[in-house]
Amino acid sequence: MNIHEYQAKQLFRSYGIPAPEGRPAASAQEADRAARGLGGAGWVVKAQVHAGGRGKAGGVKLVKTLEDVAAASRDLLGGRLVTHQTGNAGLPVRNLLIERTYPIKRELYLSLIVDRGSERMTFIASAAGGMDIEAVAHESPEQILSVAIHPAAGLQANQCRRCAYALGLKGEQIKALTGIMQGMYRLFLEKDASQIEINPLIETEAGELLALDAKINFDDNAVAAHPDILALRDHEQEDAKENKAQQYGLNYITLDGTIGCMVNGAGLAMATMDLVKLKGGSPANFLDVGGGTNVEKVCEAFKLILSDGNVKAVLVNIFGGIVQCDIIASGILAAIKQVHVAVPVVVRLEGTNAEQGRALLNSTGLNLYAADDLTHAAEQVVALAEAAA
Ligand code: ADP
Ligand code: MG
Repeated sequence: MNIHEYQAKQLFRSYGIPAPEGRPAASAQEADRAARGLGGAGWVVKAQVHAGGRGKAGGVKLVKTLEDVAAASRDLLGGRLVTHQTGNAGLPVRNLLIERTYPIKRELYLSLIVDRGSERMTFIASAAGGMDIEAVAHESPEQILSVAIHPAAGLQANQCRRCAYALGLKGEQIKALTGIMQGMYRLFLEKDASQIEINPLIETEAGELLALDAKINFDDNAVAAHPDILALRDHEQEDAKENKAQQYGLNYITLDGTIGCMVNGAGLAMATMDLVKLKGGSPANFLDVGGGTNVEKVCEAFKLILSDGNVKAVLVNIFGGIVQCDIIASGILAAIKQVHVAVPVVVRLEGTNAEQGRALLNSTGLNLYAADDLTHAAEQVVALAEAAA
């Protein structure tokens, strides 16, 4: 789960991580009031969306007058912001964060992630902050330092010093960075975060360190244990289809291809998507209907898949291990009739009573193809999607 920058900065402050004083605003008047309240001679108006890359996309506006605070706010509010992280539809801008502008000497990068390779929480530090860290990692990996934390020992002072040296910090700044890293480490553990990113962490002209941006992701499987974090959830920033899927216990991720996929089991779903790709098609989604599949779930899954206008054909790939294939086939037929599926559907059934299942599917006169194996099913669905496009 993601939260907004202004919420992340509030959490930062409560963990001793210095962040600029700022105020959220949902209208141009509120933005004006916020800027007046903050005082100073320059402000930044920041669109609050669950995505980075806002600066380059025009979602972070530096202004010098109160008139421009209001103008920038009117410009951003009510619209959608498209950044390289949002996809073409962008995300709605309902809230802004108004801050004073700070004199920036240097922009640094600091994040805390779980490194799956070493299975440890790992700090990533780079003096090349402010920009796309993926690009830095690609073009000049020597500018990035990773420091893995031993789970029993915890964060050590010498690890903080190593990061400080890599960031080119001196004297009091080393102490300040240690405080920031300890705060991030505690926040990560206490709130079950999965990622905390400060990009940029700035060094001001006066030599102070300040988190100018703040991004926190939380572990979806742990968030129920943290009502204070759950209360920060903004459904409007999330994919409506993914939210709907969650309600029905379906594991659904929107993608941008043309072939809808319905599969039981996450591993099988991944393999199915790989095969669709291999045969020249592109999946419109990842969808794991789970183990205890029933007609209701299959219906909801079809509805989800078909609510995506890009879908030209559907591939159903079910392995009947515990559930029998003929029962699944009747479920699929009932669902197709109920949901009025207009695009061709290729079904691959394997497992217990697979033949009976296929026979049922073949005797319907619907736009339905029962494939005899997965490779054929993938080839068939790719050809059907291409023919329909
Ligand atoms: P994003 O990562 O989504 O582009 P940031 O919060 O990192 O958004 O802002 C983009 C850039 O805008 C920063 O790298 C910084 O240069 C500038 N900026 C953001 N907030 C301030 C501020 N309070 N004062 C001065 N510059 C700012
Ligand atoms: Mg940023």
